[in-house]
Amino acid sequence: MTETEGNYGTSDTNDTSERNDEESDIVMECKNCKARMNNKGQTLGGSPSCKHFYQPFTKIVYLSAAETLARDRFKRHQDETDEFITKFGNYKQKLEDNRSNCQTQLEQQIQELKKLLDNRENALMVQLNSSFEQKKEAIIKQYDALLEHRENCSNIENANHDVWSKDPQTKDRTKKKRQMQLINA
Ligand SMILES: [Zn+2]
Repeated sequence: MTETEGNYGTSDTNDTSERNDEESDIVMECKNCKARMNNKGQTLGGSPSCKHFYQPFTKIVYLSAAETLARDRFKRHQDETDEFITKFGNYKQKLEDNRSNCQTQLEQQIQELKKLLDNRENALMVQLNSSFEQKKEAIIKQYDALLEHRENCSNIENANHDVWSKDPQTKDRTKKKRQMQLINA
């Protein structure tokens, strides 16, 4: 048998014209004795003592070389198509897996970044609050020191005033001072 193309319709050794006419008419076959029944209801062969269990007869079809060639080519194309479909399916699955993996990784990275950002924010807030508290304490300390200083000054002034007002010379000195002011004015 040669695999020449464009050979359809030409006759070869197994051409359909050589098929048994009787066989092509057979529709049933006995499961037990292999007796066959044709489309006219006639039984051919088999055992006369058999009770016959007929089943639909599968006809044996002989293909010509061209038909065999065409069938083989069709089968090969079908196999190639199946193979391609399988490959394509696998490739598509792989792509989807990759996409899914990438998305998962991205989501994880985003979560990690968010966590880092939150941690940084918290650390900065702690630092800010701490430095604010330190400055506040320092200012309150300075304020207290100023109050104390003012009180001390006030006490000293009062003490001095008491001493001066009881000193008789102070009165004279004050008088003279006023006279001088009047003259200068
Ligand atoms: Zn039978």
